[in-house]
Amino acid sequence: MAIASLHLPPDVEALPAEDVLLWAYEQFGDRMCLTCSWQRQSSVLVHMISELGLDVPIVELDTLVLFPETYETRDRLVERYGLELRSFRPIDPPDRLWETEPDRCCHIRKVEPLERALAPYDAWITGIRREQSPTRAHAQKVEWSERYDVWKVQPLVDWDAKRVQAYIAVNEIPYNPLHDVGYPSIGCVPCTRPVRAGEDDRAGRWAGSDKLECGIHINAPLIKESND
Ligand code: SF4
Repeated sequence: MAIASLHLPPDVEALPAEDVLLWAYEQFGDRMCLTCSWQRQSSVLVHMISELGLDVPIVELDTLVLFPETYETRDRLVERYGLELRSFRPIDPPDRLWETEPDRCCHIRKVEPLERALAPYDAWITGIRREQSPTRAHAQKVEWSERYDVWKVQPLVDWDAKRVQAYIAVNEIPYNPLHDVGYPSIGCVPCTRPVRAGEDDRAGRWAGSDKLECGIHINAPLIKESND
């Protein structure tokens, strides 16, 4: 079980992303993992961790219904950075559950695999950014997650999309090509469409419903968890 109290640097919110990672690595070492969804934030963080020489386990949540471009991006990053990937998949996901019960589908394909993935760790590096949606607007660079019993380390919370793309371009990092054809946010195939001009970055996720999150980055479960 992770410890819910931690001595944070007083200026943690002002630290550059690299310094946040270095500080977190000093605290947690290999008890910290990075989860990758193979969107552009994953490209940035995989590169940054590699450049800093940090031995951080890389975890993916493979919902089994990701875009071919997403799997190809994963494979390019694995090859370029020599990643030893820990892949977590859903157990017996009902077919097409996204059509009738998307929250339960997200629970089976994402949340439960994440719980398994995080079990050995005390800290979890994520690539979320505040500008992505109102539900992420108050994310901190380091915050405690009661729900998962880990520290969340979020070095890119104050980066905007232009900065992310510029970092990728300058460092010539492989990234998901769907970002270039109208997909600022990329999830599972059945629940992701390109956005139109003027829409926010996550408008293409679960379009036509009021669902904003799959549930892995919010503190209250979207569905009642049960062992029935
Ligand atoms: S995003 Fe859609 S397909 Fe993917 S887990 Fe959630 S409901 Fe299921």
